[in-house]
Amino acid sequence: MRAYLVALTVSAALSCACGGPAASRAPEAAQPATPSTPSSTAASPLRGRTVVLDPGHNGGNASHPREINRQVDVINGRKACNTTGTETADGYSEHAFTWDVASRLKPILERMGARVVLTRPDDKGVGPCVTERAAIGNQARADAVLSIHGDGAAAGGHGFHVITPGLLRGHNDEVVQPSRELGRAVRDAYRAGTGLPYATYTAKDGLQTRTDLGGLNLSTRPAVFIECGNMRNPGDAAKLSRPAFRQRMATALAAGVRDFLT
Ligand code: ZN
Repeated sequence: MRAYLVALTVSAALSCACGGPAASRAPEAAQPATPSTPSSTAASPLRGRTVVLDPGHNGGNASHPREINRQVDVINGRKACNTTGTETADGYSEHAFTWDVASRLKPILERMGARVVLTRPDDKGVGPCVTERAAIGNQARADAVLSIHGDGAAAGGHGFHVITPGLLRGHNDEVVQPSRELGRAVRDAYRAGTGLPYATYTAKDGLQTRTDLGGLNLSTRPAVFIECGNMRNPGDAAKLSRPAFRQRMATALAAGVRDFLT
């Protein structure tokens, strides 16, 4: 998997401001004067829950086409192990974007009490394949899996959409419905928190069901993809390129996951 391969394509020197903000843990609030009742549920609504965050693509994918293009089984067909993703017209890459959002989202969910598992440790590696990404969520027994992407659609379309798994009988029967509920919760919170509209160019009311995404097909846990905006659209790209806006996105996504799990 990690065997060195001669780079066949020139990887643009994408500098990535990843890593997100330093985990700025809010100082503990002063004890209230009123007698405190057990409020661990209110303070840590996600205690005991596991959330898997899957930042789409990876920084080394473009320079490792043979590894990335390897075909893998996604139940109803074969697909590339992983892809390079898109980028804005100014060269802000999807892999850096998704890594940054996941890095902002993780500490927010942890402050809510969740155990958070990422499908890749940084933005410098290759893959993992969609099969491995799904397996990470399955093995973690995730209560929710959120795969984060930015779309690369025609520049005229804008807005976001959430993708949920379609039924593959005998494979994901139990998670189609909870995934839809997760999808609706994420859609509602993301719209409310970011003000971004539903995609104008695909999906309906910001929701779409697909059976061609390996990460969803192979998940035995409630799972959704979010295309956070269209990186090829100038208006969306400007927003997605702003750190403060990505923080808003992360806060909104955390609210969506919380709403689903509580
Ligand atoms: Zn993507």
